[in-house]
Amino acid sequence: MTLDAAQAFLQVHGVAHSYGGVQAVRGVDLEVRSGEFVGLIGPNGAGKTTLLDLISGAVHPQRGRVVFKGQDITGKPFHAVARLGLVRTFQTARVFARMTVLSNLMSAPAGQRGEDLVPSVFGGWREQERTQLGRAREMLGRFRIGEAADQYGSELSGGQRRLTELSRTLMAGPTMLLLDEPFAGVSPTNRARLAAHLRALSTERGITILMIEHRLDLVEQLCARIVVMAEGRAIAEGTMSDLRRNKTVVSAYLGEVSAHAG
Ligand code: ATP
Repeated sequence: MTLDAAQAFLQVHGVAHSYGGVQAVRGVDLEVRSGEFVGLIGPNGAGKTTLLDLISGAVHPQRGRVVFKGQDITGKPFHAVARLGLVRTFQTARVFARMTVLSNLMSAPAGQRGEDLVPSVFGGWREQERTQLGRAREMLGRFRIGEAADQYGSELSGGQRRLTELSRTLMAGPTMLLLDEPFAGVSPTNRARLAAHLRALSTERGITILMIEHRLDLVEQLCARIVVMAEGRAIAEGTMSDLRRNKTVVSAYLGEVSAHAG
């Protein structure tokens, strides 16, 4: 189960967190290699979102350690973690409602790529803004939401909100994305499109991804390795077919899902 430390992009060692009396995450170990697209599944309340919060710096673990690209990031604030290239999206897509799609993208924090760091002493602000605008337009084109560039966040469909949030996240130049139910609120017709975009981020741009998702068909399509959480613990991992054969996983989650599907 343990990967070669040199290959591990993200290492989570025994993280734990309680909200009052609720032990949301009870000591989870997890490793993700560079370029992997890993799924995180499990029943409601299993602790999946809390685990993403603990990795991304939104919530600080009461126990355990998080190491990203060899650097201990435990307890670092969200924005500092994002600056290192580890960025998350949310269960409910976060888009500024009173800003246009283009302004949403332009408001993304400056990324880490060299072209974003043109020093202002050389009159670089305008240059930097032009570069950002170019990147924003390229992003809108890539995700085919250019026609919505001047629409306000509040006017967007579920799919457009997701793509706007994702584009804004990508403006920061992340090397790893933590996605919390990216397909929630996306219409069935747009699901395949979003899945293709996510696959391309992984295969073409080499972005490492850890994704929580309840739609197991999409998890199976996108993720070669899937980790299952239940009651605050990581209880199993493997391909979807491995997990279907795992009695513990079937009784903790998959049985429940197929009962609902049936
Ligand atoms: P879901 O699939 O429903 O999103 P999840 O696996 O992401 O669930 P979490 O949202 O991490 O699970 O919740 C784990 C536990 O922690 C649950 O019992 C939840 O009620 C509790 N919890 C989560 N956030 C908070 C909070 N801010 N305050 C108090 N309890 C919380």
